[in-house]
Formats: sequence, C-alpha cells, structure tokens
Amino acid sequence: MSVQSHIDKVLRKVQEYSPGQDEFYQAAHEVVSSLVPLLEEDNRYDMHNILERIMVPERTIIFRVCWVDDNGRVQTNYGYRVQFNSAIGQYKGGLRFHPSVNLGIIKFLGFEQIFKNALTGLQIGAAKGGSNFDPKGKSDNEIMHFCQAFMSELYKYIGGTKDVPAGDIGVGAREIGYLFGQYKKLTGHFEGVITGKGLNWGGSNTRKEATGYGAVYFAENILKKYDTELKGKICTVSGSGNVATYTIEKLYEMGAIPVTCSDSRGTIYHAKGIDINSLKAIKEINHQSLETYAQVHPDSVYTPVSHYPEGKHQTWNTPCDIAFPCATQNELNLEDAKTLVANGCILVNEGANMPTTPDAIAFLKKNNILFGPGKAANAGGVATSQLEMSQNASMEKWSFEEVDIKLRQVMRHIFETAYETSKEFGQEGDLVMGANIAGFRKVADSMIDQGAV
Ligand code: NAP
Repeated sequence: MSVQSHIDKVLRKVQEYSPGQDEFYQAAHEVVSSLVPLLEEDNRYDMHNILERIMVPERTIIFRVCWVDDNGRVQTNYGYRVQFNSAIGQYKGGLRFHPSVNLGIIKFLGFEQIFKNALTGLQIGAAKGGSNFDPKGKSDNEIMHFCQAFMSELYKYIGGTKDVPAGDIGVGAREIGYLFGQYKKLTGHFEGVITGKGLNWGGSNTRKEATGYGAVYFAENILKKYDTELKGKICTVSGSGNVATYTIEKLYEMGAIPVTCSDSRGTIYHAKGIDINSLKAIKEINHQSLETYAQVHPDSVYTPVSHYPEGKHQTWNTPCDIAFPCATQNELNLEDAKTLVANGCILVNEGANMPTTPDAIAFLKKNNILFGPGKAANAGGVATSQLEMSQNASMEKWSFEEVDIKLRQVMRHIFETAYETSKEFGQEGDLVMGANIAGFRKVADSMIDQGAV
C-alpha cells in the first residue's frame, strides 16, 4: 500500500471512530499530511502501525462534575482528561474551562501536545483536560466550588510522576490555586502535581509569562534566519489572556510595537501601542471586558464583534508586519490571511493552539509569508512547566532571569530542530513540516522501542 493510501485509510478511521470531532480530525489531518517524506523513507512506522496507534489516546476519562452555585442550585458539567501518549514521559498538558469544550476539542489539544512536548527536547508525554464550565460571570466562590468538585474526581488519575495538569483557556492562577488546594486536601500530599502554581507555594518564576515570551523568542529566531528582527515591527495580537498579555509584554522588550488585543467580545486598536499595565489591570486582575480599555484610553478604538467585517476578524484587518494569533483555534481564516498578505504582513506566529485554518496556512505558504506553527511557537509554556517540576523535585527555586534564559534556549532549540528537519526532508523553512516530523519521529521511535503497549 502506498504511503498516501495508508494515510487516507488512517484518517478515514479517525472520522469513523471520532464522529463530530472536527477539530481533532483537523489536527490529525494536518500532522499526518506533513509526514509523507518520513514515512516514505522509513517503513518501520508502517510495520509498527504507528499512525493508527498514535491517533488513539492511551486513556480517556469523562466524568460528571456537580457543584452548588450561589443560589444554592446544583449545577452539572462535564469533566475530561485525555491521557494521550506517555512514550517519552509522564502525561503533561493543560486544563481548559470554556463552554465550547467537548471531547473533540480536548482530543485535538491532547494530540497537538504530543508533538509539542516532544519538540521541547524534554521528557514529557501528552495529555489535556477541562470542562464545559463557563467561568464568565461566576463569583469567586462559585469558581472555587467548581474547581473543588472537578478535582474531587480528577485527583484519582493524576500525580507528580503520573500526570501533571496546568492552565489553558479559563484556567489561570486563581483556578490553579483552588485545584491544587483540593488535591492536597484529598491526598495529603504537597507535591508538584500541577504547574503554574503561585510563587509562594512551589510555582516557578517565569511560568506565567512563558508561553507569550516563548512565542516572541520563536519569532525572533525565525526573523533572524531571514536577516531581520523584531525591533520597530508593528505587531497585531489577538486575545487578551495569559498568552496574549505576555506576548505583548515581551514584544515591547524586543523593541516591537504591539497595537491590538482582543477578547471574545471585541478588538482594541491602539496606534501608539497597547498599554500593558491597563491590559493587565482589566483582564488579569479584574476580569473585565476590553470595552473598559477604550474608556481608559480614549485615543484607542474598540470594535465589538458585531461590527467586524463580514467573515473576518477585526484584529487581522489591522495592517501589521507580524501577526500573533493568541486567543483560540481557527480564529484566522482564509479571508483574514488574504488581508494580511495584502497589507504586507511578513510573519504569522501562532501563540494559540491551531488558530490558523488549513486553507489560510496554505495561502500564506503560497505567498511566501513566514509561519511559526503553534506546536513549536507556543511550546515555551509546557517547557517552563517542566522546569517547575524540576525545581519541585529538587526543592530548588531558580530566579526569574535563570528561568528566562533557559526558556530562550529551549525556544532556540525548538526552532533549530524544526528548521533543520525541514531542511533534511527537502522543504527548507517549512516549519509546519519540520515541527511535525521532528516531534513525531521522537515519539514514534520511542513507541517502537517500548513494544506493542
Ligand atoms: P486565557 O488566558 O483564558 O485567554 C484566552 C483569550 O482568548 C481571552 O482573551 C478570551 O476572551 C479569548 N477567547 C477565548 N475563546 C475565544 C473565542 N472562542 N473567541 C474569541 N476569543 C476567545 O487563555 P490562554 O492561556 O491565553 O490561551 C490562549 C491560547 O493559547 C489557547 O489556544 C491555548 O490553548 C493556547 N496555549 C496556552 C498556553 C498557556 O500556557 N496558557 C500554552 C500553550 C498554548 P475573553 O477574555 O472574552 O474570554
């Protein structure tokens, strides 16, 4: 059977056994389509049926989460933990609390995590979890009750040397605190079972900043390869959560000018540059809408979602040199890509997971726009989580500068690995292919070494 027929067969199976899981199928399709040159060169992967095996999570846990709201009413949500692959290390990956969460979303995120974690060069397997719980509009008390109820089931399946969750959309410092507190109460163990912990109780310096900072370091490496730099570049950033905020912060440090940020309700354009302190106060501390930003800064422009150009995202409608999608999946589509190209954008660098649709990626590639794929560009978060686990295990605490230096080295390593792999397979500079093949090869080879388990 030809490699392409084998791939088609595996993808048909994914569709058959994961009906309605569109995002998972999209992620699976993107990865396996770029593996063709590797699979043609080495038939061991076929012999060991790696493609089919790697598509199936090692374990899928779905559970009920019941909690009591402020009115005394019992609420019910779904909880998920998908332990996808442990070939190169214990399970590791974030938790997402968002009303759009379902099994397909968690599987797409867990699947991407396999290759991302492998790319870091560290020993970390892949998992992802979360709930369809919507933290928006909930009181602190309700958030705490939900987190405690969620952990009351999840704690059975995780552990410092087994599976270590972290944050993702809707799970930040507050939620991590409540989740960790409940784990400790139930097990009696104070251990590094979650990363992104508070700095007073086992957290690592730079973890909060790591995904955003890492995405900017990744862009720095790409630009350097093409003899340019971030200094003076106009950057558009989507999102205003953890990844977006620290992408913006690091862009300033690198001399770039980030002019947009967005949330689920609208986009801010601030020509002189986003005020990072206002952004943190509004989103990170007070959990407000970005509309407040426009009230604080009357020289900025707020466009609510209802006023976005039809079929497009307002963020990508803003002329820029570099675009950083840092909010959510499929937030930059073909029409957005056309606008970016028309406006002279030179690089799209993904801070979020799978934010660019496949047709948009193809269009950017056709137009020679540089592209930093999320599984490489946003891997700084999980890499720093591993540094947090390392510090927990050795009871050490490294300074902000020490961790930041290590993060920058990891991002350089990821870039070099993806770039060199793209070169090895005759597509120099295709970082999608380079990242996918490099991540896959490490995990697949480990699966072969460990037999049919
Ligand atoms: P976050 O702090 O919860 O922020 C998410 C941001 O995106 C918020 O501004 C949110 O708007 C916006 N958003 C979420 N869903 C949206 C939707 N459906 N439409 C429009 N806007 C939406 O989450 P985060 O940790 O920054 O994560 C952002 C992305 O980075 C995700 O793709 C995540 O998987 C990825 N990522 C995160 C990490 C990490 O360390 N946190 C690591 C690697 C990758 P509202 O404020 O209105 O909700």
